[in-house]
Formats: sequence, C-alpha cells, structure tokens
Amino acid sequence: MLFTINELNQLFTEARGEHKDSIPVKSIMTDSRRVHDQSLFVPIVGENFDAHDFLKKAIENGAIGALWQKDKKVPAYVPTDFPLFLVEDTTLGLQQMAGFYLQKVSPKVVAVTGSNGKTTTKDLVASVLSTTYKTHKTEGNHNNHIGLPLTLFAMPEETEVVVLEMGMSSFGEIETLSNLARPDFAIITNIGESHIEYLGSREGIAKAKLEIKAGLRGPLIFDGDEALLSEEHDVSENWPCGFGEENRNVIKDMELSDQSSSFTIDGRAYQLPLAGAHNVLNASFAITAAKLMGVSEEAIQQGLDQSKVTGMRFERVEGKNGSLIINDTYNASPTSMKAVIEVIKQMKEKTRKVLVLGDIYELGEFSKDLHRKVADAVNDEIDAIYTFGNDADEITKAVLHQNPSIQATHYTDKQTLADKLTDELRDDTVILLKASRGVRLETLLETLTES
Ligand code: ATP
Ligand code: MG
Repeated sequence: MLFTINELNQLFTEARGEHKDSIPVKSIMTDSRRVHDQSLFVPIVGENFDAHDFLKKAIENGAIGALWQKDKKVPAYVPTDFPLFLVEDTTLGLQQMAGFYLQKVSPKVVAVTGSNGKTTTKDLVASVLSTTYKTHKTEGNHNNHIGLPLTLFAMPEETEVVVLEMGMSSFGEIETLSNLARPDFAIITNIGESHIEYLGSREGIAKAKLEIKAGLRGPLIFDGDEALLSEEHDVSENWPCGFGEENRNVIKDMELSDQSSSFTIDGRAYQLPLAGAHNVLNASFAITAAKLMGVSEEAIQQGLDQSKVTGMRFERVEGKNGSLIINDTYNASPTSMKAVIEVIKQMKEKTRKVLVLGDIYELGEFSKDLHRKVADAVNDEIDAIYTFGNDADEITKAVLHQNPSIQATHYTDKQTLADKLTDELRDDTVILLKASRGVRLETLLETLTES
C-alpha cells in the first residue's frame, strides 16, 4: 500500500466526491491503460496529449480516484462518489505525493547525476549496496520529473536504500528533483557537453549538475579530475574521486582488458566486469558511496562482480561471420563517444577495428565543432570509420584531414550504410555502433547479425 485516501485528503486539501477514508491506494498510474484495481490515476498534461481526456478509461479499469487539474472541466460521466483531488498542476501533484511516500518509507537516498554514466553508475551503486541493504533503483532511464516520482512509487515499503538517477536538459530540473528526494549522498559522474544547446557552455552544464546540492543532506561524491568542479574539493565532507593525486579517493594501478578492468583505491584491489577507464571511474563512485554506508570490502567486491549494466551500453552482440558488434546505441555525447572509442582501441580480441558513428543531437550552435572534436580520439589503431546522418559528416572530414590514410566515409542513407557494412563482417573485426538515441542506429543490427 502506498497510502490511504485519507492521507491524500490531508495532502491535497481540495477534493471533489465522497471519500471512503480508509481505502488503500496500491499504485499510481499516469497511463489510463495501465490502471487496475486500487490505482490512483494521475493525468499528466503533455505536449501532444492531455491525459485528463482518458479519465473514463481509468475509471473503467478500476481507478479508485484521480488527481485533477483545477482548470479542467470535470466530465459529466464522473460518478459523484469518485474522489478527485484538485491541484493546480498534476505533475507537481505527482511529485508532492512521491515526496510524501518517500518520507513514509524513509530509506537512505543516493542521487546520481552527470552528463554521462548516470545509468551505469546507478546500476553499480545499487549492485554494491544491495549486498547489504534492501535496495531499490531507477528502472532503465526513468530519470526526469515524472520518471523519478514513478520510481519512488514502485519502491517496496521495506526499502532501506533507494538509488535515483537524475537527468535534465535545462536549468532548474535537477534542483526540483533534489528538493524532492533530499538525498543523503549525491554523485556527479562527469561534466560533458550533453544538452549544451540549452545550457550555453560547459560552465552552464556544471552549474546545472551542481543543483543537486539543493536538497543534499550529506557528501557530494564527484569526478575530482574535472576542473569545473574544483570548488567542491574544498568542502571537507565531499569525496572527489579520480586518477589525479589530489583526489580523496585516488584510482591507481588500472589495468584494462576487453571485458573487465582492475584497479586499486586506497591500497585495496578491485575487479570490475566492465571495460573502459570511464567505467573504472564510475565504479570508484560506487565504492566510495558503499564505504560511506558501511558496506564491507568483501561485499563491495561481490556487488561489483554481480553488476549488470542496462542494455545498449557497450553490449556485446555476435555479428555475422564471427565478427563482434559493440552495441552502444543507447545514446551519445561527444565525451561518451570518445570514451568508447578509447575502449575499442584498447581491445585485444579483435585486430580490425571499425567505427560506425551517427549524429549526436542537442549540441545547438556547437554541433559541427563538437562533432569535429570526436576525431581527436581516432588514430591509426582504427581501420575504418563510417559516419551517418548530418553533422556526423564533420567527424569523417576531420579524420581525413588529420589522417588521410584511414578509410572514412559518410552516409546519409541507412540502408546504403547497412549494405556497405556487410563487407566488414569478418572474424577479426569489431564494429562499434554509437549515436544519439533518435538516430536508432541499433536498426543496423538486423543486417549485421544472424537473428
Ligand atoms: P543518459 O543521459 O542518456 O541517461 P547516462 O548518463 O545515463 O545517459 P549511461 O547510459 O550510463 O549514461 O552511459 C552512456 C554512455 O556514456 C556509455 O555507453 C559510455 O559510452 C559513456 N560513459 C559512461 N560513463 C562515462 C563517464 N564516466 N565518462 C564519460 N563517458 C561515460
Ligand atoms: Mg541514463
């Protein structure tokens, strides 16, 4: 049970309909099709739809009540004994209820933000903490002003720790989420260039991520090698992590293999079943949070061993003719694209390395320039590059400018690209697929794999 109708009466003072106060609300649904017995329906006003139009469906499916925006007319079909809680804004109402439920359960809260690596870090933190505590985490990528409340409603009452991913695309969003969740620990994974279109500069991005301090009640764990976060080194309770000696947790002795990594922190050795230096940094945040929460060293290693990262992030897929496809098509930013290219360069199991890179969205006026900079990560360890879309052409141009001997070609038609890629399907070859979500580069897998 989340709460009773009576508790909602206290939270939202204005209501319509006669209420049976003790009725328990078992779930909160924003989608009328998913409403079932004892759900409370929360109609969200979106860009394309206004879910107030779907109240009838919600009632038919067994809703026991709904939030209702005051500026909407209540339809005549609504039974007089159906509770409607009247609010100025249903999205804010949803957040208010989430905050209320969070207070009732009162778990420790770990919040994770940053330009790249939020989902991965969230999964690592949850894996490590779940060895010791009843842990609930954001499913997939539900990290915004609606997804975060829904994550909280999905949290069992006995939860001891909740790990929340916080995403944003403009100023003020992280502040809202932080004030709602009141984290005990917060993590900033890195400062990249994602959403620079709306935030103006990397300084703007750092400022927006630091909004996580708004509701923070404990230490900030962060990328200590990032100059834009340097002031946070001076806060005595904070934990800068990274490769630089000035950090409070310094990563040393890093060894990277194709599917795993090892490193030490504070003289203690850790194994991580993930490739890439960026994931070692992500793991250092999880280790730091776990130590601060009293998780034993043995349990931390056990948690790292069990970690499972959400799909389409460096996912290994068997390609045709024994080739290896790395499906990293969930999303891309210039920083994450460069980070993954580094991992591909270091891979030993395949000698030929092919990159398939699509457009990175939401870079605004910086787009062409930032695409060009991706080429800095490319050297002669890469055998071929295929770019796709619009501004991704800048990567090809810059690569050819720096190193005319690399095979680099730009495509604007996905099918033509797919046909060309079939020539690359060899057993000595690894093919990286990476682009922004909207490019849906994973559709190439149909051509590149057997199934
Ligand atoms: P989104 O904003 O789409 O939710 P996210 O921040 O949750 O992204 P992940 O999904 O964890 O990020 O990872 C996305 C990609 O970012 C990974 O596939 C990897 O290429 C890269 N990445 C992960 N961690 C880091 C990091 N610490 N620094 C730079 N790049 C990283
Ligand atoms: Mg994410």
